[in-house]
Amino acid sequence: MCLAVSAAFSETPMKIAIIKADDIKGVDERFLRFIETSKNLGIKVSCGIICESLENPKKEYVEWMLAEQKQGFVEFWNHGWDHKRWNENEETISEFGGSGYAHQKEHFVDSQNAIKRILGQSPISFGSPYNAFDADTKRVISEDESIRLLFCYRDPNLENVVPAFMALRGEPDGTGNPNAAKFIDSYNQKNDITFSAIQFHPANFDDQDFVEYEKTITFLLEKDWVFMLPSEYITWLEDKSK
Ligand SMILES: [Zn+2]
Repeated sequence: MCLAVSAAFSETPMKIAIIKADDIKGVDERFLRFIETSKNLGIKVSCGIICESLENPKKEYVEWMLAEQKQGFVEFWNHGWDHKRWNENEETISEFGGSGYAHQKEHFVDSQNAIKRILGQSPISFGSPYNAFDADTKRVISEDESIRLLFCYRDPNLENVVPAFMALRGEPDGTGNPNAAKFIDSYNQKNDITFSAIQFHPANFDDQDFVEYEKTITFLLEKDWVFMLPSEYITWLEDKSK
């Protein structure tokens, strides 16, 4: 597939999506079904690992991730260490929102290292739990040379890090609840979009959610969206700017 060439010669800009599937913490039947469904639709997906799960992982968990990585349909990314959220002085703090530099640094580095240890390479993407982001998160990310892409709602203005904006909402009915009709409605109201990371929580899917997920993706395929992994997107951007 020669993406760069087709983009250069087409009149309308290429529309690129990255599927962002959150919250892997082991081999999960619904995650397997999500990946299988995506493969059947012909699209690749990126999956965020809650990295605490890699501390003493079961053999089948490691073997599954390695097999997916080798097949190339799935790219794993850093979704933080423990995904915790708590209250402090009546304020909600989360792993990467208000927890302080030392806390964030430790959790971020431990997560990068855990993925590298298990999968043999550092992830190039990060998406924090609850999409939290503050000045300490910015500093922590800027101190890691591996990270090239950040899933976010607002531009973090980080050098060498591409913001992957979640412009389209994959789960209009809340966490784990895709709704194709609502998705299409809101898509039609902002049809100048040419890039979106699209977030899903497959571990929360039931049968109907899988149907809605398929409908949502099928709609985007009919609208000529191209699905990339984070690393493919980075390469595409680099080729484009040459
Ligand atoms: Zn999450």
